Amino acid sequence: MVGDDTSTSGLSPDEAFALVADETRLGILRTLSRADEPLAFSTLFERSDYDTRSNFSYHLDKLAGHFISRTEAGYAIRQTGRRIVEAVLSGTVTEDPIVHRKPTDRPCPFCGAPVEVSYQQERVELFCTECAGFFRQEASGPQFATEFGTLGHIYLPPAGVQGRTPTELHNAAVVWSNLESLGLSAGVCPRCSGTIQQSMTVCEDHATEGVCAHCDRRYAALFEVECSTCHYSSSGIPNLCLLAETELLAFLTDHGLNPLVPETHERAPGALGDYEEDIRSTDPVVVALTFTVDDDALTLTIDEDVSVVDVTRERGTESA
Ligand SMILES: [Zn+2]
Ligand SMILES: [Zn+2]
Ligand SMILES: [Zn+2]
Repeated sequence: MVGDDTSTSGLSPDEAFALVADETRLGILRTLSRADEPLAFSTLFERSDYDTRSNFSYHLDKLAGHFISRTEAGYAIRQTGRRIVEAVLSGTVTEDPIVHRKPTDRPCPFCGAPVEVSYQQERVELFCTECAGFFRQEASGPQFATEFGTLGHIYLPPAGVQGRTPTELHNAAVVWSNLESLGLSAGVCPRCSGTIQQSMTVCEDHATEGVCAHCDRRYAALFEVECSTCHYSSSGIPNLCLLAETELLAFLTDHGLNPLVPETHERAPGALGDYEEDIRSTDPVVVALTFTVDDDALTLTIDEDVSVVDVTRERGTESA
């Protein structure tokens, strides 16, 4: 007896993982995700490596309802089943590639030196070879004589490493991160579609030259996002919370800079990273951020809820 197709509620994550932690069942999900139409039992069975129909039917019954549905036309994969296959194919649950620090063709937004990338534990780390970058980190390996500067890290599934040069890996990480930021900035969790809470904290004793000794960051204002549903959280520079702001997007595109095409940032690599910060007030928090490209400057004033309360755009003399 096949389970009721509407009964997806009441399955705990433990139970869900237990149901798919089986080669045969993963095989069924992969076959159905490749098919562009529902498959009859006999077709599905033929495409499997299984040799006993009754046992195969048992596995199929376990998946029915939660991960696959049975219609008049046959078995079809549900969105939850597709997500399992995507996680397996992206390498998220199976692979653990490592890339040691390698130079890219991309310049640091602050000093123009080549950015280096590394990859481990599903994380692309971006380093500047010359300056302190965004954050100071303690030396964590024999390759670092002392502390070093990092330009941030970006979570990227292992599939993002496959067949890419260091520069291509850097670009893929920037696109992946900006895609996430667009969702986060618009208040929607890129992982689960739940509601994102945005906040901003300010280092109250910030040194404005280089990287601050109190907070180990270049900028006093740190932007933070957290999903109220799936525990996703991240922190970093303003694009995390502001990338979907119409004024910021308009400013970038006016200069031919597209957040999803890293190559367009080659002529102005500091557009989103090398900005001016003016802490107008710490209680309540009010911060003005000025982004500059060529002679054009955009200032966004933000309150403690990360709402933009004022927008000023000043064009240089030649374009006024
Ligand atoms: Zn640098
Ligand atoms: Zn500080
Ligand atoms: Zn979420």
